[in-house]
Amino acid sequence: MCRNEDLVIAREVERLREYQREALKRGSAEDGKELFAPAISHDTVGAVALDSHGNIAAATSTGGTLNKAPGRLGDSSLIGCGCYADNASAAVSTTGWGEPIMKLVLAKWTADRVLAGNLPEWAAQEAMNYLKQRLNGHGGIIVLNAQGQIGIAHNTPRMAWAVKTVQKEDAGVERKN
Ligand code: ASP
Repeated sequence: MCRNEDLVIAREVERLREYQREALKRGSAEDGKELFAPAISHDTVGAVALDSHGNIAAATSTGGTLNKAPGRLGDSSLIGCGCYADNASAAVSTTGWGEPIMKLVLAKWTADRVLAGNLPEWAAQEAMNYLKQRLNGHGGIIVLNAQGQIGIAHNTPRMAWAVKTVQKEDAGVERKN
């Protein structure tokens, strides 16, 4: 256990202050609109993995979103929303604007597409299309099935990703297509 104050870092305090200053300037803080800033970078880290027995797993860790309401629970910790894994379908981790991701239960939605016979690559891209079309959401997703096939997609300008298998390593930041 540690004190809550130990988890507060200067960079994030400055980022929050700057956002709130800007919001005040735009007047959005006064009318209560647009207090959430989906375009501002997030710090979520997600992972999906496959072991030599064919078991898959997913993990998602986040600091949340900038200017979040006290007590807000994001998608990352909600199984089926920001994180999901089932050997029969896929392991999925998501990042991005958590509210739409939660409403769509997006990680499970994506795993269900893989269970229906689609490739992780297709399911990842479809999930991003669905997120945008259904709720104008922004984010990114990584998907892996028990055959070791992967999907990486995002509808944000950038999402850092890396892949490592026994045969190869690859990493990137920009959109792949
Ligand atoms: N999804 C996280 C949340 O909404 C934020 C993130 O992925 O950066 O709390």
